[in-house]
Amino acid sequence: MVRLLLIEDDPTIRTPLIRALRERDHAVAAAHTAMGGLQTALDERPDLVILDLGLPDLDGIELLRMLRAVSSVPVIIATARDDEAAIIRGLDAGADDYVVKPFTAAQLDARIRAVLRRGPNSPQSVAAAVVGDLRIDPGTREASLAGANLDLTPREFDLLYHLASRAGQVVTKRELLTEVWRVPYGSADKTVDVHLSWLRRKLGETAQAPSYLHTVRGVGVRLSAPGDRR
Ligand code: CA
Repeated sequence: MVRLLLIEDDPTIRTPLIRALRERDHAVAAAHTAMGGLQTALDERPDLVILDLGLPDLDGIELLRMLRAVSSVPVIIATARDDEAAIIRGLDAGADDYVVKPFTAAQLDARIRAVLRRGPNSPQSVAAAVVGDLRIDPGTREASLAGANLDLTPREFDLLYHLASRAGQVVTKRELLTEVWRVPYGSADKTVDVHLSWLRRKLGETAQAPSYLHTVRGVGVRLSAPGDRR
């Protein structure tokens, strides 16, 4: 089931579209303002966002720029026909596709499938990360160390996969907060430390005697295979 977020202020479009998308077996959350949509996008982490441009509190393009600062979720703009300049600005601002009003639910659904097919988050296109004896498969969401399955929470899994896909590089807490937690950087950076300590325990290591997770003081953390000193 694809989890959609529809950001649309016009109830005569929103209500029937929600119904039509649900009939097509999608889970649909909806927001009728830009800021409400941004909050829902961060809280619910939908698979795809359908974004109207004419919103009461903020232009949809502005919302898209704010969203892109913290999230790579696919976005389809839904806009009026005479708004070509806005479409171009929307694509330049990071939208993945657009539909022109009025559009049918069938057309939107086909575009949703097309965007998700080519998206970096589709299971087929995401390779397992292998570092030393560590293997993390985002398709099946399984992680193992030397063949033994690791029992990770969803957040621990995302954190480990993010670090493993950048193995050998120092990843900052800011990047982890925006890419894994999808929240703006702020006072919550202790969250990263806490999750890292949980991960270390599950990997059978400590900050003082690391095997895979190396803290780089004042900068961030680097995942690398034991013995792979950099
Ligand atoms: Ca509108």
